[in-house]
Amino acid sequence: MSADVARIIAMDTYDVRFPTSRQLDGSDAMNPDPDYSAAYVVLRTDAGEGLDGHGFTFTIGRGNDVQVAAVEALRGHVVGRPVAELCADPASLSRALTGDSQLRWLGPEKGVMHMAVGAVVNAAWDLAARQAGKPLWKLLADAEPAWLVSQIDFRYLTDALTEQEALDLLRRARTGREAREEELHRKGYPAYTTSPGWLGYPDEKLARLAEEAMAAGFRQIKLKVGADLQDDIRRCRTAREVVGPGFRMAIDANQRWDVSEAVAWTSRLAEFDPYWIEEPTSPDDVLGHAAIRRAVAPVKVATGEHAHNRVVFKQLLQADAIDVLQLDAARVGGVNENLAILLLAAKFGVPVCPHAGGVGLCELVQHLSMFDFVAVSGTTEDRVIEYVDHLHEHFLDPVVIRDGHYAAPLAPGYSATMSPESIAAYTYPYGRFWAADLTRRGDGQGATDPAEAQA
Ligand SMILES: [Mg+2]
Repeated sequence: MSADVARIIAMDTYDVRFPTSRQLDGSDAMNPDPDYSAAYVVLRTDAGEGLDGHGFTFTIGRGNDVQVAAVEALRGHVVGRPVAELCADPASLSRALTGDSQLRWLGPEKGVMHMAVGAVVNAAWDLAARQAGKPLWKLLADAEPAWLVSQIDFRYLTDALTEQEALDLLRRARTGREAREEELHRKGYPAYTTSPGWLGYPDEKLARLAEEAMAAGFRQIKLKVGADLQDDIRRCRTAREVVGPGFRMAIDANQRWDVSEAVAWTSRLAEFDPYWIEEPTSPDDVLGHAAIRRAVAPVKVATGEHAHNRVVFKQLLQADAIDVLQLDAARVGGVNENLAILLLAAKFGVPVCPHAGGVGLCELVQHLSMFDFVAVSGTTEDRVIEYVDHLHEHFLDPVVIRDGHYAAPLAPGYSATMSPESIAAYTYPYGRFWAADLTRRGDGQGATDPAEAQA
């Protein structure tokens, strides 16, 4: 069937979970035992040549089935859509999904339902980039400013950013685009690493990984804090002794504190010269972040990985509540909403240092930062993408880190495709790994897929 009449013929979903809690990878003050998981979606088409779209949103274990169910609820908006129309205007899908008059009640535009929208919208952009034969960052960087602006829902934004302002920002950024793209290919995009700083790691491991991070060319590391002040003092001292003065060392409390506690705790750790304090308090508390920021300066305040949507980012910026904006590729409503967030950040002059890690978040978010460098903010100054060295082996086009930089992906798409073998092994609870694990633990009953048992 030729591509111009091809349609989305199916939307497949998978509850994929990795047993990361067993190594304390990813452990922090609020999330001591995450099993990194993906509610994974494949938009299958009849366009031939394997043209399909892959996307996902990220959770940390229990509840990933709820997330998958939310993705399933969107199927009626997806299946049957003409591929060419969808690729020419992904906003048409994004608007239909966020505007579903009944599902909207579950948000609006926040939480499980909105993350489900993000998974599907990300899959649509993967499809669009593959059809164009370009990596997503390049598809976006080559796009006309007017088309990019047409991909953004400006509702609730125009008191901070109008369509005309967005258009002007994108037009201004066209100057020097080719040189920046050449620089991106040559140097990549700067990264920092969180791998040394998980809360569950012993001090020796922290020190060894911090030293390795410096040797590998990273410009910054990050430590999890917030569970025990004396432990944090000891761990920050250990890390600072390893990396020396001047090296950027961020700290991350993962929403652990009240506002006054955040100020007191951060002030106590200030002697170790933290570059930023991340998620000091509730991600919804815009004014709380603003108060913390005023009190802990010159330590910077960073947040965003749990900000529901563009409206929260708008308020964080309007309230001068953050120094660093940490968008996430899979928390909000996908690429369309992240275009709005990148433009808001550019308007307010706040650097974007995306949240990544988890499973597949590095693969996705590198595209957004690279697009930002080439075609929005035009700079990598004070900008770094988080990097965590876990689970990349499950992706067909995994991130490549060279000398502390993300290398620009070259393969068409959004780097979202997980290997079929990994999906088969880690689908919960009937995939090979989990079925064997449940049997080993004596919970073996029911570890066979009922669908298979019937067959
Ligand atoms: Mg964080």
